[in-house]
Amino acid sequence: MIRLESDVLVIGAGGAGIYAAIAAARDGCSVHLIDRSLIGRGGATVMAQMTVAVALGEQCPDHWEYHLADTLAAGRGLCHAPLAQLLCENAEARIRELDSWKVGWARENGHLKQALAPGHDRARCVYVDFLNTGPAVSRTLRTRLNRIAAIRRIGDVLITGIVVRGGEAVGAVGLHLLSGETVVLQAKSVIIATGGLTRMYRRNSGSQNMGGDGYALALRAGAELIDMEFVQFFPIGHLAPRMIGMDPIMWDPFRYKLGGRLLNAKGEEFADRYGQAESGDYVLTRDVATYAIFKEVEAGRGSPAGGAYLSFAHVPETELRRAFGPVIDRLAKNGIDLTKMPVEVAPIAHYHMGGVRVNTAMETRVPNLYAAGEAVGGASGANRLSGNALTEAFVFGERAGTAAAARAKMRAASGWSDQAAAGELDLLDAHNGAAAPVNTAALVVELQALMADNVGPFRTEARLVAALQGLARMQSELGRLPPGGGAHYNMRRLDWFDLRNMLLVAQTVVQAAIERRESRGAHQREDYPGMLPEWEQNQVLSWREGKLEIGRSRPAARSQAAP
Ligand SMILES: Cc1cc2nc3c(=O)[nH]c(=O)nc-3n(C[C@H](O)[C@H](O)[C@H](O)COP(=O)(O)OP(=O)(O)OC[C@H]3O[C@@H](n4cnc5c(N)ncnc54)[C@H](O)[C@@H]3O)c2cc1C
Repeated sequence: MIRLESDVLVIGAGGAGIYAAIAAARDGCSVHLIDRSLIGRGGATVMAQMTVAVALGEQCPDHWEYHLADTLAAGRGLCHAPLAQLLCENAEARIRELDSWKVGWARENGHLKQALAPGHDRARCVYVDFLNTGPAVSRTLRTRLNRIAAIRRIGDVLITGIVVRGGEAVGAVGLHLLSGETVVLQAKSVIIATGGLTRMYRRNSGSQNMGGDGYALALRAGAELIDMEFVQFFPIGHLAPRMIGMDPIMWDPFRYKLGGRLLNAKGEEFADRYGQAESGDYVLTRDVATYAIFKEVEAGRGSPAGGAYLSFAHVPETELRRAFGPVIDRLAKNGIDLTKMPVEVAPIAHYHMGGVRVNTAMETRVPNLYAAGEAVGGASGANRLSGNALTEAFVFGERAGTAAAARAKMRAASGWSDQAAAGELDLLDAHNGAAAPVNTAALVVELQALMADNVGPFRTEARLVAALQGLARMQSELGRLPPGGGAHYNMRRLDWFDLRNMLLVAQTVVQAAIERRESRGAHQREDYPGMLPEWEQNQVLSWREGKLEIGRSRPAARSQAAP
């Protein structure tokens, strides 16, 4: 067993986790920064390629209040307004800090360039040019980390449980994937920064490491989750031909620049059938585009891989080159020549609006336990504004690190006891000894299909109930103990721990979706169309004696009036 101790433990080394670690170390704390993958390379942050929303007013007048107004409008009445305000108000400090760390925001005439993105009332999004925002941000944060001796970075450790003693978080336990050894991490405060849950869906924009671990960790530790029914789908995710090393949502910025035509299998533009016409330009909102593509496929007019065609073939090559820059050559390496062929696109699971319920210090209801980044729910309500997710990672990460450091400094010791960790430690030691172990890889694929087919953007009671029954069956198939086998990078064991979390988190999404009998933002019920005033409420989930409980609460109001 490996035993480690620090003031602050950060779980997840994406944008939020790294920012949290830097902030906690800046305030004088020792930090362990843990990731199940490589530090700064395991989650969504490194994959993000475009926009970061921030009211800088560099190219046109702006104020964080306007950014907040757009964020609240997108959230359709459900945003936790104080969190949304924190995001918009503190965004400038983080973006300028990253600028001072030489992230390389695109500039024009000495000003940071700001692009218009859907849902914003003005050009507000900074970026690093040509699909490079996420890699540039991750590189900058990793470089910063390397200079801070107080932060110890440890990859390949899967955190499997938060340890709670006397109702307070005292650390976590996990599995060192390379050696199979148990890792014990004692800490005075703990931050969950494990990103989102989109791996639960067949088609998703995320990575293998985004199965919603943090939501399950928080729930089992006694924290609450909020708004779990709101999974954001991105309408024109890349589907075919196969493309390596590119962002699956990369077509969006090029649609802004060039329009592009969305076509069905018959080569027809079809958006006008669904209430919005577009001809070569890009006016379709995300919800209508998602609906239109789903319905065309349902009607048998989908592309061969099950989506729609996106064509730029009508755009002159010189214009394509100007808009796509070096990306044209990367596409060519993947055998894609946009002057001659369309690509196939379809809605894919992209981001989770729900997550761990926190206050504006990023504290959960469990003392010493914090959350940051996409792991946090509430700021975006029923729908996230584009560009707000990276901003959220930086702002909430910094805030969580600062708050967790202040808390750690107030405590003499972590209060760890092996007895409090016994349940989680036993699980890491256990193996089920089954002669014919369950095929965990097949179960992951089955779960992804179940969620995509029954809990996508368009839902009905019958399909949601079928999903719940499927989850219960899969849970009993998975069993209560992990399979044994080799110690080194044992994929079957890893899948078991992943499924343990994914099945629980899927259950929270499905049960919240069943309860919300209306359509709002990313949650569209075909059997309950339209938004209902009585449903202007958040759903709050907790775990009590092995059962999920769901309550409702009015969305938190703004902490101060607009100036
Ligand atoms: C393809 C793509 C493009 C995007 N483009 C944009 C964009 O242009 N603009 C924008 O604002 N947003 C964008 N987003 C969303 C945005 O990137 C994310 O919301 C944000 O980066 C989340 O940051 P995070 O630090 O919270 O999580 P992540 O960056 O996902 O990091 C989470 C980390 O936690 C680790 N982890 C998970 N579970 C465990 C565990 N049990 N134990 C240990 N470690 C664990 C993971 O390995 C990972 O490294 C995009 C997302 C994707 C997938």
